[in-house]
Amino acid sequence: MKVTQQQAPITSLWDDQAAAAMSEPELLLYRSNLLGSDLRITNFGGGNTSAKVMMADPLSGEQVEVLWVKGSGGDLGSIKLDGFSTLYMDKLNALKGRYRGLALEDEMVAYLPHCTFNLNPRAASIDTPLHAYIARKHVDHMHPDAVIAIAACAGSQALTQKIFEGELGWLPWQRPGYDLGLKLEQVSKAQPNLKGIILEGHGLFTWGDTAKSCYETTLAIIKRAEEWLAANSKQPSFGGQAIEPLPSEQRSALAARLMPLLRGKISRDEYKLGHFDDSAAVLEFVCSRDLQPLAALGTSCPDHFLRTKIRPFVIDFDPLQPDFDKLVAGLDQALEEYRAGYVAYYERCKHDNSPAVRDANPIIYLIPGVGMLSFAKDKATARIAGEFYVNAINVMRGANGVDTYVGLPEQEAFDIEYWLLEEAKLQRMPKPKSLAGRIALVTGGAGGIGQAVARQLLQEGACVMLTDIDPEALSQAHTDLVKSAGKDSVGSIVANITSEEAVESVLQAAALRFGGVDLLISNAGIASSAPLEDTTLEIWQRNQDILVTGYFLASRAAFRIMKQQGLGGSMVFVASKNGLVASAGASAYCTAKAAEIHLARCIALEGAPHGIRVNVVNPDAVIKGSRIWDGKWKQERAQSNKIEADDVEKFYRDRSMLKLSVLPEDIAEAVYFLASDKAGKSTGNILNVDAGNAGAFTR
Ligand SMILES: [Zn+2]
Repeated sequence: MKVTQQQAPITSLWDDQAAAAMSEPELLLYRSNLLGSDLRITNFGGGNTSAKVMMADPLSGEQVEVLWVKGSGGDLGSIKLDGFSTLYMDKLNALKGRYRGLALEDEMVAYLPHCTFNLNPRAASIDTPLHAYIARKHVDHMHPDAVIAIAACAGSQALTQKIFEGELGWLPWQRPGYDLGLKLEQVSKAQPNLKGIILEGHGLFTWGDTAKSCYETTLAIIKRAEEWLAANSKQPSFGGQAIEPLPSEQRSALAARLMPLLRGKISRDEYKLGHFDDSAAVLEFVCSRDLQPLAALGTSCPDHFLRTKIRPFVIDFDPLQPDFDKLVAGLDQALEEYRAGYVAYYERCKHDNSPAVRDANPIIYLIPGVGMLSFAKDKATARIAGEFYVNAINVMRGANGVDTYVGLPEQEAFDIEYWLLEEAKLQRMPKPKSLAGRIALVTGGAGGIGQAVARQLLQEGACVMLTDIDPEALSQAHTDLVKSAGKDSVGSIVANITSEEAVESVLQAAALRFGGVDLLISNAGIASSAPLEDTTLEIWQRNQDILVTGYFLASRAAFRIMKQQGLGGSMVFVASKNGLVASAGASAYCTAKAAEIHLARCIALEGAPHGIRVNVVNPDAVIKGSRIWDGKWKQERAQSNKIEADDVEKFYRDRSMLKLSVLPEDIAEAVYFLASDKAGKSTGNILNVDAGNAGAFTR
């Protein structure tokens, strides 16, 4: 297999008809969304756009010039109008009188809120002065791989001149801040014919008199950079292919085995979530001759290394003689060396007022012949870090194809990573949720209780892998959960949990999708009802298969992974009041539920030394949203209790001590409590959620 990259050319998506009725702020939004929708134009969350617009001042009613510029946070692809901050241009210009020089440029950030127009609550970003002082109405600042490649070449200035023939200016590397804004002003005023400026080691500024011309100039410049690189690059990239990648299934299988182990080693201080990428761009890089030396150079664009750390971690693995145990055996020491290297970098570069050293574990893991793993405190951040490293790979390919790639000098990288303004941003982040970084597996995930549990765990910050035997119901549940929780945190896989092989594949899927498993909510269920003499062996066996064997298989597989991770874990079995209280005409069901409860206690004993807790929630008569109660079971229970099927809910409510119906959300609340650290000192317990039933009192 040959691993190379093929991409469609960048083309303008501007629709004059759609744009005709738009106001200037709406045109800015339109342009921003178009630019942000293509990762080759700018990376996620990277770059910003602006327009200088005449508007009525809310106090005086007079027309004033207002800078609309992407605010702090968010992404251009999905930004809405409220994502832009708005500032008075005359006040921004007046700030120049306050500027006391490069060493004190950070203090200018505190003045920006004083320039706010119309009480807009969106905080202005650090890049605001860069947009404000370029003497053009419309300005784009992008991080396109092809342009950063040119900006990251040793001969970047000469190449810029050669490729763009004087249409683009060039500024040497400088941390983006107030001073860089003044430099951009100088260049854009001194050379009015320029269409934009390349910032060394960083990215591109382009501008125009209208939103459309600005957009099209940005695209034209990026296209020219791409075409020039393609026409002039030495082939093959990265010194050529050194090794064949493993076949696709073997790559995924290896990643799924490795991720829980690795996750355990790097989650001691904070739970991490993982992401696996074996796309063509990644494989080309991790199979290349120059993998080691290029990886060691680190990334260039500030956005890249803020997300990926200054350097990736290259795992010692030979796909020609794949030896998983050898790989694992070498991990601890290699990780120790990486962490020591990171701390040494911190010590070499720190200033008197630098923030304390942060987590020293790698974020990006490159595995020769296999692909790339990325780990971060949540799934979206892990995925995006991986995407950023793909940007960095593209930059290295482009730069080394035509010249020599240079990473950012170490001190400059440090000064961005530990910039006090970045630290302030981190400090402003909301406190993590109670299940942040945890991975939950919910069996029977398409049912009423399963979905309610998944929803609650997602709300508390967990990632959830759903499994169910019903593909349509599962796909619907997945879609519904994604709507509220976003695509990153939800995964699903169809499986029959009575099959040993299927259960293994579920755990493998959870490992590959998120990095392992911390919480198992064993919930897949059925119910049956028949007097003893009418209970066929088939009915008996079916209850045993799903309620006992299914719970055994899921918990055994999850237990193994939890043990590997070494991070403890929590299992919650959704059993039934009937596991404690015998019920006439349901011996197969009641017996299987009793076995479930006892299985939980046995695992609680074995799990305790590993910090794995196992508890039981006993629902009773959860009829709303239940797929069990939709079917025959309702009829059977109605018959057995000598009532109409429509009266079943009322019957159970009236039978309860508290005279309340039990809802899926009530079960979810109890499951969440037992799954979370709130119940960190409880194991082997039973929590009845049955609106009160004296027969089920535990003793
Ligand atoms: Zn930038």
